[in-house]
Amino acid sequence: MTKTPITIARGDGIGPEIMDATLKILDAAGAQLAIEEIEIGEAVYKRGIKNGIEDSAWASLKKTKVFLKAPITTPQGGGFKSLNVTIRKSLSLYANVRPCVAYAPFVETAHPKMDLVIVRENEEDLYGGIEYRQSQDVMASLKIISRPGTERICRYAFEYARANGRKKVTCMTKDNIMKLSDGLFHKVFDEIGAEYPDIQKDHMIIDIGTAKVAAHPEIFDVIVTTNLYGDIISDVAAEVTGSVGLGGSSNIGLDFAMFEAVHGSAPDIAGKGIANPSGLLLGAVMMLVHIGQGKVAGDVHNAWLKTIEDGIHTGEIYRAATSKKRVGTDDFCKAVIERLGQKPSTLKAVDYSKAPAGGLKLPPLKPRQESVKERVGVDIGLNWDGTAAELAGLMQDCLQPEQNLKLAMISNRGTKVWPDGNPDTFCADNWRLRFMAANENEPVRTSQVLALMNNMNEAGFNFTKATMLHSFDGKPGFTVAQGE
Ligand code: NAD
Repeated sequence: MTKTPITIARGDGIGPEIMDATLKILDAAGAQLAIEEIEIGEAVYKRGIKNGIEDSAWASLKKTKVFLKAPITTPQGGGFKSLNVTIRKSLSLYANVRPCVAYAPFVETAHPKMDLVIVRENEEDLYGGIEYRQSQDVMASLKIISRPGTERICRYAFEYARANGRKKVTCMTKDNIMKLSDGLFHKVFDEIGAEYPDIQKDHMIIDIGTAKVAAHPEIFDVIVTTNLYGDIISDVAAEVTGSVGLGGSSNIGLDFAMFEAVHGSAPDIAGKGIANPSGLLLGAVMMLVHIGQGKVAGDVHNAWLKTIEDGIHTGEIYRAATSKKRVGTDDFCKAVIERLGQKPSTLKAVDYSKAPAGGLKLPPLKPRQESVKERVGVDIGLNWDGTAAELAGLMQDCLQPEQNLKLAMISNRGTKVWPDGNPDTFCADNWRLRFMAANENEPVRTSQVLALMNNMNEAGFNFTKATMLHSFDGKPGFTVAQGE
């Protein structure tokens, strides 16, 4: 078998110890890997590289396209950027896949039947980092959800379920509040799900969904969700397995893939030889499946399950009642190697021999369904320290009949305050004015919006943004304000 080129980084804290153990096990199992090593993390940050990775390291990643990464320590303050976010975005790693499994009765947990996988969208949502200070008192953050991004992640979740013998995919959103962005995610989930009649599907609002993951994780199989909810819910799920040190994760893109442990660099135990290498090892198992070495992946995973089942445990999962032998990193690694070729008898053995090489192959995105898009108005944001009624009165002077625009609504922090606002609504110093077509039968032209903004500018208004309002096939492409 030819060796598959991969890039590794030993990272910080316990990173080098758990990477050594992982590579020894992969080697003993017969993994065919041509390993290139790059340096990332603390030492690179200390050389003044703000994102923790040298330009030269990208060359290896671009060549091998497969990255096994140990955890790194992110320096606090000093304008340093998260290396994980940089890598995910630069390599378009759109799916974060995190299996969260209980290993009862061998590892103590309140949820012995838990065996779920979280498929988290990894590029969009509030992680776009598009934020603005809009006024003295108001900050805003923009949530972006795209149809292609959503289609890809939902498709990945269903394909993953099918390839891994999973029965159900649950979508989690907050589309009762974010009707357009989360609403799109839910809608696309339903559309894509319809192509998988063999897989059960359901939807939960994220708040109750998270509560259910914490209290009854055994009812879930695969969960697919947006970036921020996925970030939160995957930590909840990892925690309730009873063992943050045991989770591996993959970050999958169209061309690239990165595999790692769920946990961080654990500086409190670094250099002591007691770290559990299991999280990185299970990340490496996902990598072997991805590069088409499913047989070796299964051997490693089964030997690892047998080691856990035999009660050979590192300190953080060792319990007198459920464990037999407390070991450090090296002895745990030796125990896994000794069990290569064996299968667990109580825990469920794995079989990756039929997993497709090169990861899941997704069909091309569906062609876009073009809608008829018409401009129907504009929302203008501005700073103002007076009342809504005063603002509305002053706007009448800025509107000219030839602009085909009328002031339809003013909101503050998303709540309608004019017309007929509630005098008890607290107002901050940034306002949104909604202007709609005065004559609904005529579209609003850019020149009319610019003329209005020019009049507002000359009247001394200090606007912060303008967002054009469109209808798509006659349906509004914007939400109404609270109370509108
Ligand atoms: P952590 O996951 O490193 O540690 C949390 C606790 O779990 C610690 O008590 C630690 O000793 C224990 N622990 C973690 N992994 C273990 C293992 N394999 N074996 C035994 N015990 C283990 O989280 P933290 O302390 O919040 O973060 C430490 C550093 O790691 C921070 O700089 C953080 O930014 C970074 N971090 C990196 C990644 C990554 O590179 N993917 C992820 C999370 C955190």
